[in-house]
Amino acid sequence: MCGIFGVYGHPGASELAYLGLYSLQHRGQESAGIVTSNGRKLCSRKGMGLISDVFTNQSLNKLKGYAAIGHVRYSTTGSSLLKNAQPFLANYPEGEIAIAHNGNLTNSKELRDSLQDRGSIFQTTTDSEVIIHLMACTSKKSLKDRLIDALLQIKGAYSLLLITEKEIVAARDPNGFRPLCLGKLDNSFVVASESCAFDIVQAEYIREIEPGEILIINEKGLTSLRPFPKVQRSLCIFEFIYFARPDSKIFGKSVYLTRKRLGEKLYGESPVKSDLIIPIPDSGNYAALGFAQKSKINFELGIIRNHYIGRTFIQPKQEIRDLDVKIKLNPVKELLKGKRITVVEDSIVRGTTSRLRMQSLRQSGAKRIDMRVSCPPHRFPCFYGIDFSTRGELIASSHSIEETRKFIGLDSLSYLSLEGMLDAMPLPRENFCVACFNGKYPIPIHQKISKYSLE
Ligand code: SF4
Repeated sequence: MCGIFGVYGHPGASELAYLGLYSLQHRGQESAGIVTSNGRKLCSRKGMGLISDVFTNQSLNKLKGYAAIGHVRYSTTGSSLLKNAQPFLANYPEGEIAIAHNGNLTNSKELRDSLQDRGSIFQTTTDSEVIIHLMACTSKKSLKDRLIDALLQIKGAYSLLLITEKEIVAARDPNGFRPLCLGKLDNSFVVASESCAFDIVQAEYIREIEPGEILIINEKGLTSLRPFPKVQRSLCIFEFIYFARPDSKIFGKSVYLTRKRLGEKLYGESPVKSDLIIPIPDSGNYAALGFAQKSKINFELGIIRNHYIGRTFIQPKQEIRDLDVKIKLNPVKELLKGKRITVVEDSIVRGTTSRLRMQSLRQSGAKRIDMRVSCPPHRFPCFYGIDFSTRGELIASSHSIEETRKFIGLDSLSYLSLEGMLDAMPLPRENFCVACFNGKYPIPIHQKISKYSLE
């Protein structure tokens, strides 16, 4: 969970990076940063919080240059601290370099231990820093060869951007877990986690950065390298289900249309008689729309989301029950009273929030609540960059569907099947990672998964 954006060849590089990151804010809200190059040196600013908290007009003006990379972070490795904010800037034997990384490496601990044994001193606790150390320690000379040498040693998920004084480089792991795409704006190139970041700067979408591709962007234009042996793609299916913005194209395909198809499939598999179809906003909206259109049952926005919640709010001294849930989502009582409703949710992770939401719908007068979920039960943790990291937190790892239904307080509960989910995808099924649903990890992990916990 992180968003990255890069631009090469534009006089307003830092402003474009700011806008691009603004569009990618949903991918991480803990910290944000931008590094620019003016051809002679790199300039960096980063801080904790949202992109709008970290940057002002004044600070952007100080980030001079025609190239930039930026990052918004949600920590999946390393703590939420300023020193772990990215892009991570360092000196290496050829000059300055900065890196922005989305994904999780699965062998970073081994690599880090071995680098430390050889004298490396780490400044952060992130796995992204390992890549810079590997680039610094190799006997190779050029940036390209250093990077290839480093990437050949790492395993796991990475969509990366690097910047030096003279160029930016985009790279995607051979499995292609996380999205990364290329666009063009006049004579400059832009790279982003999702295409919604191109729309805001009015750049044209060109293509995906391919799994296993390294793309160097400099004054000579684009140089594409594919130095890795080809492996089966393992695109993260959860990006389509929940994580990416619905107005984005990821892996070359529309997120919005895919979510609607998930909803249609879900109705086909688990039809229901109801008065209303209601999404859990915002991420459940699109599957609910597909579900409602297929079922011909009225779609209503029966739960309203408060969009103006800051990172912190003061918990009043007086105890108000379920405040955390109600401050975010509030049911429309007049709509729900006496109705049989079907709630469409994109996923259930812990189940505790769903339980509080359903209590709130019952208090609003809903007569019957059926829930339909647009993916299968999450039974296994993700090691490739999505944070539902311990199996103990996942209700489906220790509860049957019937037990989950009772826990949440529903009249019925059905999930989309694995087959149905894969059928709804816009790409052939063999392209996807579905490890959090079936436990078949495309890159071996080094932790043992016992019945109820990770060891
Ligand atoms: S395990 Fe799940 S969340 Fe993680 S990369 Fe695979 S599909 Fe995505």
